[in-house]
Amino acid sequence: MAKCSFCGYNIEEGTGIMIAQNSGKILYFDSKKCEKNMLKLNRKARKLKWTKFYEKHQDKKETTS
Ligand SMILES: [Zn+2]
Repeated sequence: MAKCSFCGYNIEEGTGIMIAQNSGKILYFDSKKCEKNMLKLNRKARKLKWTKFYEKHQDKKETTS
């Protein structure tokens, strides 16, 4: 079973989006939301609470912008 390339959660069979990039890399997304966040918004999964990669201990890194 494929996992979402962005949020890291399992994609249910028969659902999801598969994108083949020019580089040959294949990305899987469980929803348009994940596709958009990664490809259009260039968001970091680590910084979004709803992903599996979210890091809870970021308190010390509040120096951005
Ligand atoms: Zn996802």
